[in-house]
Amino acid sequence: MSIPNTYKTEAIVLKHADLGEADRILTLCTSNLGKLRAVVKGARRTTSKLAGHVEPLTHCSMMLVRGRQMDIVSQSQTIESFLPIRNDLWLTAQALYLVELTDVFTSEATENYPVYKLLLDALHHLSRIRHVTLLFRYFELQLVGHVGYQPQLRQCLNCQLPLEPVQNLFSPSGGGVLCPNCAHTEPVIQPISVNTLKVLRLLQRGDWATASRLRLNPDLSRELERVIQGYARYLLEREIKSTSFLDRLRKEGIGSSSD
Ligand SMILES: [Zn+2]
Repeated sequence: MSIPNTYKTEAIVLKHADLGEADRILTLCTSNLGKLRAVVKGARRTTSKLAGHVEPLTHCSMMLVRGRQMDIVSQSQTIESFLPIRNDLWLTAQALYLVELTDVFTSEATENYPVYKLLLDALHHLSRIRHVTLLFRYFELQLVGHVGYQPQLRQCLNCQLPLEPVQNLFSPSGGGVLCPNCAHTEPVIQPISVNTLKVLRLLQRGDWATASRLRLNPDLSRELERVIQGYARYLLEREIKSTSFLDRLRKEGIGSSSD
């Protein structure tokens, strides 16, 4: 059976870049094909009918044609343009943070519907709320979970006993929480209070309707940010290091199939 030459998908436009004289390359977060890069021919011409439907932060329904190097967008219909976000510089900056995070944490052509849905829902929530801190923490924790790094928050990473309601320790490299007795088993740890751990567990459940009713005091908010962003940063640095490590191996001819 031959692969069809055209296909349809729903997508959120994460970003775009200029290509050649008049074209654009889009980075898309799709509902069924993961992250995808595609070309829009003539998108920078004033006469382009597609240009208005392929702007970053647009949720759209697209028709694509398979290309030799990159697929080409042949049609695009806006489903949602998130006008309240677009019309507000501050909200735009917040939305771009969510988009950027999605971009760096996902890989091309790896189907991940939960990530697509998470981003879409977050953009809808963002245009309705004024306090984005909690939404950001929810988004960050859900995102790392959906790409395979769900932190362990109920049992100790080392002894596997249920965590007691005392000050425990968060370990980014271990991917979760250690009880005080096992603190020595990971090199980098940070204290995590009972309340922060409770909030993390609630955010991890993926129920935004309940999570959004939380009210965080400044101390709790700061600790939550330190734990989640510290974990996300650790994951990204590890990812970046392993990629450049692989590149080096390839350059040196190690790990390639040509030996
Ligand atoms: Zn333990």
